[in-house]
Parts: sequence; structure tokens; C-alpha cells
Amino acid sequence: MTNPANFNESPARWKRVIIKMSGEALASSSSEETIDAEVVDRLAGEIASAREMFQVEIALVVGGGNIWRGTTGEHAGIERSTSDTMGMLATVINALALQEALERHNQPTRVLSALSMAEVAEPYIRRRAIRHLEKGRVVVFAAGMGNPYFTTDTPAALRAAEIGAEAILKGTHSGVDGVYTADPRVDPTAKKFEEIAFMDVISKDLRVMDLTAITFCKDNNLPILVFDLMNSGNIERALRGEAIGTLIR
Ligand code: UDP
Repeated sequence: MTNPANFNESPARWKRVIIKMSGEALASSSSEETIDAEVVDRLAGEIASAREMFQVEIALVVGGGNIWRGTTGEHAGIERSTSDTMGMLATVINALALQEALERHNQPTRVLSALSMAEVAEPYIRRRAIRHLEKGRVVVFAAGMGNPYFTTDTPAALRAAEIGAEAILKGTHSGVDGVYTADPRVDPTAKKFEEIAFMDVISKDLRVMDLTAITFCKDNNLPILVFDLMNSGNIERALRGEAIGTLIR
């Protein structure tokens, strides 16, 4: 896989990371498509080239909100655990789309699912995930944690701790490129933090990630970089250590 001509001398800021992306990042802003092949292809290309450029180990956690969220069904009267399971299955669909696109970019990729479905994905086994990463494969963690009552933010934090990732790169897709004092789409005076402490995110109730995930990252010293995933080249910038987004630590 290594292409010496492409190899970047500058070291990556982190050697093993989790990129958390919402399912909606794969959807189309210009149409009704739940998965936009062009968007997935662009993201996959950026992930593959950043991995190659920095020789960094990358695992992905993808949400399912473009297809289904547990709370959607709950509001419609579907029992919460069933609705959450539907949401977890939605993440598997997104994971397969990412795997296919990454492999089209010649990046070997394995989907590891927290719910067993032997025909489509490997089961999640921590040591196997680490082995894949060491071999230069991208790992996509699918089906969240396999438990209802969570969103994919918490499994992103949990898997990061389990595999010894040094940081979580939380990609946004809504045009908000970091953590602000208020929602910049509503309040034009909102200011962006370059860096912020976990405690401040919690005490100021800045909803960048689920509170469960934030607390977990705080307790386990896992920094989170919140950045605009949709801005082309940002994954590379984040890994290079450029001051983009907001670092929570
Ligand atoms: N989900 C779950 N357990 C998990 C992860 C996800 O039950 O460990 C369900 C939950 O219903 C959630 C849905 O899967 O709403 C899709 O995930 P998420 O909402 O995180 O998707 P995103 O907003 O990131 O696209």
C-alpha cells in the first residue's frame, strides 16, 4: 500500500484515531438521497489518502441518522429498544457504503459489527480490530455498541478507549466547524473556541456530543477534535495538527 512518492515526512499529530461521522454526513444536501454516492466517495478518498500520507491508523464510527434514529420511532409509538435496534442496523448500511467506497480507493477496509451478522460483517472483537489497524486496514465499527439507549457518540468514545486511539475526530456536517459559545447559525455573536476543557463543555451545556460520551472521554483522557468534515482537506489538516475546529481536552 505504501507509495513512497506520496509519503509525507511530517508526522501525524496522532498515530491512531477514531473518526466519528454522523450518518447525515453521507446524505445528500441537494436531493432526498439517504446515501449520496458522490459524498461517500469524496470522504472515502480523503480518508484513504490521509491514511496513506501519514501512515496513521484510522477507525471509523458512523451513525445512522440519515436512515433511522431510535427517537424517531419512539415518537411514532415504536418501542424504544426496537427502534434503537433499527437505528443500529442503519449504521451497518452506512458502514457497508463506506467500506465499498474505501476499497474502491484501494484502501483495505473491514466492517466490525457489534450485532452479529456473519454474512455481511465480522463480529466486533477488540484484538481483531487492533490487528486490522496494524496491518494498515481501515476499520469501520458498525451497529454502535449493540445496546439500545445510546447514540453512536458513546461507542465512538468506548471503541477509542478500547483500541488505544489517541483522539476522536468528531466530524460535523452542519456547517458548524467547532465548538461555539452558542449556536452560530442562530446567534451571529457566537464565538468559536480553539480549545476548551471537558468540564466547560459539560457545565456550559455545549451540545457537541452526547453527555455520556463527553463524560467518558473526560474520565479516560481522550481528546476530541470537533471539525467540519465536509470541508475538503480537513481530515488531512486535522492529522497534520493544523489549528482547525475545536480541541476538547
Ligand atoms: N444506536 C443504539 N445504540 C448504539 C448506537 C446507536 O441504539 O450504541 C441507535 C440509536 O437509536 C441511534 C441510531 O442507532 O439513534 C443511529 O445512531 P445515531 O443517532 O448516533 O446516528 P447519527 O446521528 O450519528 O447519524
